[in-house]
Amino acid sequence: MSLPQFKRILLKLSGEVLMGDQPFGIDTDYVAKLAEEVKAAKETGLEICLVIGGGNIFRGMAGAAKGMDRAQADYMGMLATVMNALAMQSALEKIGVETRVQSAVQMDQVCEPVIRRRAERHMEKGRIVIFAAGVGAPYFTTDSGAALRAAEMRCDALFKGTSVDGVYNADPKKDPTATRYETVGFDKVLADNLRVMDASAVALCRDNDIPIVVFSIRERGNLARVLAGEGTQTVVGN
Ligand code: UDP
Repeated sequence: MSLPQFKRILLKLSGEVLMGDQPFGIDTDYVAKLAEEVKAAKETGLEICLVIGGGNIFRGMAGAAKGMDRAQADYMGMLATVMNALAMQSALEKIGVETRVQSAVQMDQVCEPVIRRRAERHMEKGRIVIFAAGVGAPYFTTDSGAALRAAEMRCDALFKGTSVDGVYNADPKKDPTATRYETVGFDKVLADNLRVMDASAVALCRDNDIPIVVFSIRERGNLARVLAGEGTQTVVGN
């Protein structure tokens, strides 16, 4: 299960990484640093599709736990992902990286709708396409959105940048004996319910043979290291 040379990747960033050290929301200084890392990765010649979560602002499950209708709460979560996408677009364009946001929930005044062929054209022109609003339906997450866009856009791999540096056999925040997998199979991830991405996202990647690279985006320069195969990461594959 070795990593191939990548031409195009999908980079999924959890919403929580946009908070920086804040407890909530968007830390624009931190988003600017993330944008620098994305720019550096792009300058190596890589084509990048971006998907950003919304957990730093709103998660449907959290709303539902407080008595909201689940679908309604999920719509709020989807809108949160659009806010994050716009924040990242702004940070990238400030440093000269051309981007387009495409949302799975149509909002014409704000960004483009998801149109695959149009996204392809943006990529040909050297732009980064940020896909917002997940799959555009409640009861899903942006992990599923990331897997779907990675398949549609024929990405060579899905890089999941999060707060943890890989996939562990137990929760490393709770269990000090937890160990990290270097590589792990999709079927094991699903059978053991390992916390990588939600099951529908993992299954979509498995069925389309798209490896998932789980790494921590919190350390500076880590995206470049992981892309060069030098970072700490877990590769989930067939
Ligand atoms: N969401 C949804 N459908 C999607 C994508 C997202 O309903 O296709 C909602 C869902 O409520 C989710 C929230 O948007 O909790 C934010 O996305 P996510 O939890 O995936 O963000 P992350 O954990 O990556 O920050």
